[in-house]
Amino acid sequence: MSKFKEGKIGNFLKKSGKYIIAITLAVAIASAIGVTAAVSSNNQNNNTNISNEEVPVSSQKIVFGLPMNNCKILNDYFDNELVYNSSMNEWSVHLGMDISSEDLSVFSVADGTVKSVDYDSLSGYSVEVEHKDGFVSVYSSLAENVKVKVGDSVKIGTKLGEASTTSGIEGGQDSHVHFSLYLNDKEVDPNNYLEFSNK
Ligand SMILES: [Zn+2]
Repeated sequence: MSKFKEGKIGNFLKKSGKYIIAITLAVAIASAIGVTAAVSSNNQNNNTNISNEEVPVSSQKIVFGLPMNNCKILNDYFDNELVYNSSMNEWSVHLGMDISSEDLSVFSVADGTVKSVDYDSLSGYSVEVEHKDGFVSVYSSLAENVKVKVGDSVKIGTKLGEASTTSGIEGGQDSHVHFSLYLNDKEVDPNNYLEFSNK
């Protein structure tokens, strides 16, 4: 009696044992696939995380200073309001800021490379500095004694020249720098990027 029972149970185990092994194998394979998938998606996440972390390290946000000490804003930036220009006897927008100070020194507002040093009768002496992240700063109405030349590397605060009255388009004003800022070749309001505390 007991032998018969054992035999039955034994048979059952023998038969179902195959299934149990098969199921165990299937589960093992499935979980192996699952783990592989999880690992590979973790790797992808890790890769994404790494590249996300590298971006700010390799291109840290640009830091701006001011173009003059104790900036006095003679004319602010206006891109949607016409301002009367007495030397040209016309109304126009003013895509820059006219800045003066007792100390006439004009400084680069950020690290960069001097892209051009020009003179024309409308803008006077101008220095253009290319920065990272698509920014370019332009300093016009400078005196003739420009301190930098094309290709020079400049730091934030490097002296570029001195404010003057060389801009024909802005004649009649005290010595000042006409400062403009470009982002991806488009004039932008410097107030959005620089901290003018003495306005
Ligand atoms: Zn101006």
